[in-house]
This record gives sequence, C-alpha cells and structure tokens, in this order.
Amino acid sequence: MTLYIKNARFIDWQNLKFTKTDIEVNEGKDGGIKLIDTLPVSSTEPLQVVDARGKFVTKSFGCGHHHIYSTLARGMPAPAKTPENFTDILKYVWWNLDKNLDLEMIKASALASALYCAKNGVTFVIDHHASPFAVEGSLVTIKEAFDSIGLSHLLCYEISDRDGEKIRDRGLTETKEYLKAGNQGHVGLHASFTVGDTCLEKAVLLARDCNTGIHIHVAEDLSDQDHCQKFHNKRVIQRLYDAGGLDLSGSIFGHCIYLDEQEKRLLRNSKAWVAQNVESNLNNNVGLANVADYGDRIMLGTDGMHSDMLRSAKAAFYLGQEKEGISFPGIYDRFRNIHRFIKENNFKGDSDNNLVILDYNAPTQMNQDNFLGHFVYGIDSSHVQSVISSGRLIVEDKKLVSANEEDILNFAKEMGCKLWEKLT
Ligand SMILES: [Zn+2]
Repeated sequence: MTLYIKNARFIDWQNLKFTKTDIEVNEGKDGGIKLIDTLPVSSTEPLQVVDARGKFVTKSFGCGHHHIYSTLARGMPAPAKTPENFTDILKYVWWNLDKNLDLEMIKASALASALYCAKNGVTFVIDHHASPFAVEGSLVTIKEAFDSIGLSHLLCYEISDRDGEKIRDRGLTETKEYLKAGNQGHVGLHASFTVGDTCLEKAVLLARDCNTGIHIHVAEDLSDQDHCQKFHNKRVIQRLYDAGGLDLSGSIFGHCIYLDEQEKRLLRNSKAWVAQNVESNLNNNVGLANVADYGDRIMLGTDGMHSDMLRSAKAAFYLGQEKEGISFPGIYDRFRNIHRFIKENNFKGDSDNNLVILDYNAPTQMNQDNFLGHFVYGIDSSHVQSVISSGRLIVEDKKLVSANEEDILNFAKEMGCKLWEKLT
C-alpha cells in the first residue's frame, strides 16, 4: 500500500533542507519515501492521500528509554511511607507497583503508552519492562499492544535478583524466548545493585548469543556506586566492562549520573550508548551529569515520565545550559541520535517512511538556517497533526486512527482502578 502526502513542506531531518513537494510513502519496515512533483493518476482505485498544505513534514521521533509499566501510576494512592531517598522511591513506589501488575494491566499500560507515543509523533520506542509476578508473556503482551497501534519497538524485561532466584530465572527465560522467537530487543537488567554476578554473567552470555546488547540503569544514584564498591570492590562501569557488557553492540546504559574519569574513558571507548532522562533525574532528586563527557553515543529517553520526546529535548536543552553549555545543534543531534543507534545496530522499524506532519504556523519565518531555533523554542507536541509509522497513517488530524482511543483509555482506567486496589 502506498500513501501520498501532497503540498508538503518537507524538512530533511539530517541536513535541514526545506523542499516544497509531494511525497510517495511506501509501507513496510524497510519502506522508503520519494519526493515527487505530482501525484500519479490511478485508474483502478483511489489513492490514499493526506493533504499537508501549510504544514511541515519531517522524520518522526524515537524514545531511547521508556517504562510502559509506569503508565497506570498517574494519580495513584500515596505510598505507605514518604520516600526519603532514591532507594525508598524504588521500594515504596515502583517496586510496589510493578509487583502488582498482571498481564491485563500490562496490556492496558502498553496500549495507553503507545497511544501517547503515537500522538506525540514517537514511532519507535525502546522500553524497559518490569512485572516480577507476571513475567511470562509480558514481552509479547507489550509487543502485540505496540504492533496494534503501529509502533516499532525494542523491548526488554528488567532482570534482577531483587525478588529471588526463581523470578530472576523467569526474567532470563522470558527474554530468551522472546529474542529466540525472532523479535528484536535487549537483554534487560535493572541496575548493578540488584544484579548479582551470576545474573550479570548469564545476561551478558544471553545477549551475546542473541546478537544484541544489554539495557541497564547505570549509576542513576550514588547508592548504585556505593553498593558496587562495597560488594564488588569496583565501580559500576568497571563491573560491566569486566563482565563483557561494554563489548556488546546495541547496549544502552540509562542515566550514568555518577561516573568517574576512568569510567568515562571506558564508556567512550566502548560500543555502549547512554540514554539521558533529565526530567526523571530531577523528579527523583538524584542529581544531573555533564553527559557530554561520555562521547557522542548519547540519546534521549523519558524514563516512563511521559511519551513526549520534544518535551524531553527541551528539558535536556535547558538543563544542558548549566551542565555543559549545550548548543542548538548539540541538542538536536542528541534528540535525533536514536536513529543512528537503530541504524548502526541493524534494528528495524525506523526507515525514512516514518514521518510526522506538523501544523506549525509560527509568528516568524522558519527555514533551513533558523530551524533549530524553532525546534528549541517553538515546535512542541501540540503541533503534531498526523503521524506515519512504517508507511502507515496511525494518527490523522490529532486522532489515533489505527485503534480506538476511547476504548484504550477506558480500558486503562479500569485496569488502573484494579491495580490501585491491590496497592492499598
Ligand atoms: Zn529507567
């Protein structure tokens, strides 16, 4: 099936060149686009055409670190104890929530997250999932939800020792079965302080065997480093390096707030990518890092806070002013680096036929020379009019068309109530 966009002002996401054109969009994970002068005339069936008159068309967006499991947390009852530090936040908020998830709630969480991603122009999602008492089938549940909305994805299950060996092994098995079935994804690990040596060793072996990387939180809080020094007599990146985790292609290290110079060196010389999530870091009060020191393999995530990558980019820009004096091109590259990550690691679902149509009528002119000023200070998710994922129209005129929005949100509300009852 071919989709046509007419009257577009196309912005090439790499060189920022503006072209007035019609666009032919081919469907499929490997599909491309063609800039054309006029639409073809079909004698057999009517063409599927989207009119982008007065609007801008460019590459859609990707999220480098998400947690769909946190979707039903919005407005949930307060925890039994007010958290006083990062470990408390995990213990009393997130681990209490994820232990109560069942497959139905996971499905609702994934559908609602996918809905928000789609409406925000995010067509590729890298997720890190935890549900210790509903491990089996969790990844396929998320995959099917994302597929039904039409998003591409790279999923993983968050393996750890925090709930004992049995649940750790379930995480390993779930991951192995998901990857061996031909699905693209990572071997997920929670963080150094919840992952014992056997667990880490098995995870790296599995990742190597499945030709993928690990996806793990690294030094999100100082307590992760303190724990690693105390129990392993080394720092977190050194521990991952010694276990072979830095040699794997496609690995993602979330946060990386507390690294010393030696760790930064190891990271820069590795194949691993860093996912930066500044809003989450502020929310958890864990501090912020100058991630510019970590090399050029840095991308942006949301850490499950929301599904809006334009918002993540703005937050990283403003905070980056203080930490690293980040430039307009610097933040735009970081926002777009996920495409490089996907391409370099041969993952599917981020071809040129992933597009967003922006209804952005600015008070000043926008062109190739000043686009980045509009990117930082003007364009936001409210301008996302329509979204095309792998050549398929999934959002049209701000409405999800690949599934029923109202049904998804009603289902999520129902599952939210069910979850909250279990929490109290
Ligand atoms: Zn995270």
